[in-house]
Amino acid sequence: MQYLKDALKRKVASQIMRAPHTFVLLDFDGTLVPIMPKPEMVHLRASTKKLLEKLSKNARMSLGIISGRRLEEIKSLVGIKGLVYAGNHGLELEGPDFKYTHAKTKEFKRILKEIIPVLQPLSKIFPGTFVENKEITLTYHYRLLDPKWVETCRKEFVKRLSKWLDNKLIKVMEAKKALEVRPYFTWNKGSAVRWILLHEDPASFPIYIGDDKTDENPFKALKDRGVTIRVGFDRNSAAQYFVKDNDEVVRLLSFLAILSNTRQK
Ligand SMILES: [Mg+2]
Repeated sequence: MQYLKDALKRKVASQIMRAPHTFVLLDFDGTLVPIMPKPEMVHLRASTKKLLEKLSKNARMSLGIISGRRLEEIKSLVGIKGLVYAGNHGLELEGPDFKYTHAKTKEFKRILKEIIPVLQPLSKIFPGTFVENKEITLTYHYRLLDPKWVETCRKEFVKRLSKWLDNKLIKVMEAKKALEVRPYFTWNKGSAVRWILLHEDPASFPIYIGDDKTDENPFKALKDRGVTIRVGFDRNSAAQYFVKDNDEVVRLLSFLAILSNTRQK
């Protein structure tokens, strides 16, 4: 994993310039916006939005937002028409001319309905924690919990889910100060990114930027094909490059915008 400094940026730029079409795929929380104590506190800065709009209007560039949030939520948080959006880690996909929901999601929604009342009491037992129902997946946030209770809380969470875990109906995944309940079948941000590229633009050159464990799947999926960038250094990450923070992501996007202008001339 190398730091994406100016010299490297120029190298990446020349790859983009050579490609007939570039597909910029971005995670949202922790990538385009800083992580906030509660997911509802997050908003996209007007200047970042403008930048994304500019990029999306470029004929030789496509833009996709790949998030763990619900599709409708991520669409309204970004609020730009004509992009490809992936919600719930790619279980729900939508673009200007398509809509896709993974075939097994209906059955999984039913399972989540059983699970929610079992997990809901945890927010009373462990103050500061809460369950976010994302319809197709579920996130249990413990960022505001007293650190001395975290281990107990996580154990209780898994214990309450043992029936579904033992029957291989669900998976519990790690997120940043959160645990996620997801379908047992393998469909992740990596599968979503592959699906999007295959259906939308098989010949394009992909750039993926993300910050979390769930972004490791797209990092791996695109390893031999495009440019993968992690927000924050992690020696174990499969991403090729890293930038230090959200501001550097925005600067990188400005750089891409300038680049696409140059290319249009
Ligand atoms: Mg993220």
